[in-house]
Amino acid sequence: MGNVVMAIGAHIIDAELTSGMLLAKHAMAGDKIVTVALTAGERLSNRGGMSCEEFREMNIASAAAFAKALGGENFVFDVPDGELFASKEIELKLARLMREQKVTHVLYHWRNSRHKDHEQASVISRYAAYYAALKAMDIDGLQPATIKRKLYAENFEDAIGYEPFYFFDVTKAFPVWKEAIMNFYAARNSSVRYVRYYEALAMEHGNLIGTDYATTFTVDECRRRVVQEYL
Ligand SMILES: [Zn+2]
Repeated sequence: MGNVVMAIGAHIIDAELTSGMLLAKHAMAGDKIVTVALTAGERLSNRGGMSCEEFREMNIASAAAFAKALGGENFVFDVPDGELFASKEIELKLARLMREQKVTHVLYHWRNSRHKDHEQASVISRYAAYYAALKAMDIDGLQPATIKRKLYAENFEDAIGYEPFYFFDVTKAFPVWKEAIMNFYAARNSSVRYVRYYEALAMEHGNLIGTDYATTFTVDECRRRVVQEYL
């Protein structure tokens, strides 16, 4: 379909868990997918005895393997886990990547979260997309990105005020996602059973729209409008 869908997470595995099923669906439809982690998530408490540095390297390899399984690309920023802060520098760095990748769609964290990195990632992603598309903003001579849509992903850590709005049937993509997500250590070993949670959530949302699996996204309240001509 000629789209480039970028999913951005605060930590490695955030975007893959929350947006991964839709990324798999778009990859299967011929779109390019790009995953970005603003930190490597190397300070996860259960690292199975690995040092943060060892865990970081393994996590980066897993994120690359996930993107490769979907025929896409992955980027991990060099920011320490837990120390993510919005700034012009990081917003422009992400905007530059959006322009280089010719991104058309951006998926990112909902604005409220119990995790500070997630809240910061939401702000960074939003303003990076703004800068990427802003024609009057020069970023090393790169063409502005034509961003058609920006959607917030559903993440149980970002549940405060999140209301599902867009539902996507991901039934055919689900097995592709399930195989790819098992690349991650946290998917196989965490005390939080992430894959089980997101699988059950997709089944629940699927029930609501009459499919086996569905994934949801939302937009700010002020953008939730349906324009109609009559009745
Ligand atoms: Zn996270």
